[in-house]
Amino acid sequence: MSGTSCFEWWIRPLAFFSFCHCPRSCVFVISPLILPPLIVRPLVSMRFLRLRSRSIVAMLFLFSLSSSFLYFIYVAPGLANQYLFMMQASTIKLKENVRTISAQVYEQIRNEGRIDVNMSLISFAKVQTLVSNLGVRPGGHWRPNDCKPRWKVAILIPFRNRHEHLPILLRHLVPMLQRQHLQFAFYLIEQASDLPFNRAMLFNVGYLEALKDLAWDCFVFHDVDHIPENDRNYYGCGLMPRHFAHKLDKYMYILPYDEFFGGVSGLTTQQFKRINGFPNAFWGWGGEDDDLWNRVTFAGYNVSRPPGDIGKYKSIPHHHHGEVQFLGRYKLLRRSKERNFLDGLINLNYTARVSVEPLFKKISVNLVPDQAPISDY
Ligand code: UDP
Ligand code: BGC
Ligand code: MN
Repeated sequence: MSGTSCFEWWIRPLAFFSFCHCPRSCVFVISPLILPPLIVRPLVSMRFLRLRSRSIVAMLFLFSLSSSFLYFIYVAPGLANQYLFMMQASTIKLKENVRTISAQVYEQIRNEGRIDVNMSLISFAKVQTLVSNLGVRPGGHWRPNDCKPRWKVAILIPFRNRHEHLPILLRHLVPMLQRQHLQFAFYLIEQASDLPFNRAMLFNVGYLEALKDLAWDCFVFHDVDHIPENDRNYYGCGLMPRHFAHKLDKYMYILPYDEFFGGVSGLTTQQFKRINGFPNAFWGWGGEDDDLWNRVTFAGYNVSRPPGDIGKYKSIPHHHHGEVQFLGRYKLLRRSKERNFLDGLINLNYTARVSVEPLFKKISVNLVPDQAPISDY
């Protein structure tokens, strides 16, 4: 029997109403009721004390009553405090949930829905002008000044040599996030090494670097070539990790498989920390998003997705310029559970070059496997 479990089911109501906390202490409370018939009768019959039986009953009754009273005086403040604390904690949780849900509902009502996606090429200078008129500060940072934002969101974008995609993405994201009344900044995490691209490790670096700037409470992991088609796709976080991009034009707007977690996903700072971030061991295309899905489910979360067509995205067409598929991904994925807490935020060491640009903060890292050592899995 565990040390903290207290009651058999049948004694719980009694214990609750008598404010006692474990069966032993209940004895004090219920003793005035049970003692007289159990003890007094034998005593009286043995003529143990030469007192009249009524006096013995009275004395015992008073004694047990006073011990119950003393017990009550002693523990009552502690119990009251504990119940108050529990009530306070559940009220705070309830309040948080109500805030999240109402922010989501509010954005659904307020925003227009469909975004006119414009895939035509645009220069950085032009987007910069557009965006500076919208009050975006260096680093691509913006916060509403007429209300307190529900989420402080760091948007992390993994990057190498996709210069034409970035301005197209920002042109769409900035107005959308402003309409959603979120506080946000963009982090471009650039892989400087020539090794196969490591999307997951870049996200881990971005997460750690972004937290040096501000206590972000929500992270969105965003491919540079995914353009949202609906501004009701709310980029805040929630009780569960979110998969924003589940209807992609390149997959004919059909979820390719239930566990698909690629493109654009979001976790709270705490959720990401709890799952030890992304794996670092996926060099090349594929598998790292599947491993993140595994981590999320191992932690007991259920991924949530926007309803209906809200999670639609257009992808900027591109070719995999010399990009290699990571063929070792299936082997790693079979050992997701074992690697979960060996490889991730926990074993990551890196040095980054950081610069603040008008539209984003750039974090350049020369990724190599030695920066995330892990025994052979
Ligand atoms: N990426 C990049 N340069 C590369 C490979 C990937 O910037 O050479 C980033 C970029 O953000 C891209 C994401 O990683 O959107 C996912 O890679 P990719 O687009 O090649 O994957 P796919 O769309 O084929 O799933
Ligand atoms: C890969 C994922 C990818 C998905 C959809 C899977 O085979 O492992 O990384 O997101 O295909 O393209
Ligand atoms: Mn792509």
